[in-house]
Amino acid sequence: MSAVWKYFQVDDKNVSIAKCELCKLGISRGGKEKAAFNTTNLIRHLKNKHPTQYNEFTQATQPRTSQPTLQDLFKKREKMPGDSAKAQTITAKVAQMIAMSDLPFAFVENPGFLMLMEHIEPRFEMPSRHYFTEKALPALHKKIFDKEGLLSQRSVTEILANARKIVGHFKHSPLAYSRLEDIQMDLHMDIKRLQQDVQTRWNSSLYMLQSLLEQNGLLVCLQLSALYTSSTDSLPMGANE
Ligand SMILES: [Zn+2]
Repeated sequence: MSAVWKYFQVDDKNVSIAKCELCKLGISRGGKEKAAFNTTNLIRHLKNKHPTQYNEFTQATQPRTSQPTLQDLFKKREKMPGDSAKAQTITAKVAQMIAMSDLPFAFVENPGFLMLMEHIEPRFEMPSRHYFTEKALPALHKKIFDKEGLLSQRSVTEILANARKIVGHFKHSPLAYSRLEDIQMDLHMDIKRLQQDVQTRWNSSLYMLQSLLEQNGLLVCLQLSALYTSSTDSLPMGANE
């Protein structure tokens, strides 16, 4: 109901007439039928005859009709800050999805995926692929390693770099590999090679670390034996800390 009715009342004898409470004048509501009723004449009467009340009326209606709706609109279109709790949670979930499904990081630029995200949460702005490889992935790694107690002081990137060094060493040294195989055979273990990770694939880093952990004791043996034989074929520094 219009706020203008604060100053008018429907005529007892004729519903198509509104009586002004201030000057008792009868004003047409715009027609004879109910469907034609409107408040245009009433507002015009108020404006022309009772300016004080008209000002009161416009002030009472303005904030309710125009301002909040505009603000609401802006709020909806505004993107949420990337460091907000909500944005961080969504980003972490996307990183988790990439990890669980072993998707390439380019997936965060996939038009279909972006369309779906835009529909579900228009205020969320998808971080760049770069952000996922540089920030979200290491953060997720850290969380997992922390949980499993594998990580105490050193950063995940440092561990991965070291792991890559070790695997790289074996990849480039057939001699080192044959020694590893010798020990595996001596211990009646399965002959396994070390896995090298692909940096764009999340799970491959885990497989690499897993393959190293499986061989951890053997790698220590290898390094010790290297100390007694050729010093040139020892593992890279820091490999078996
Ligand atoms: Zn009046």
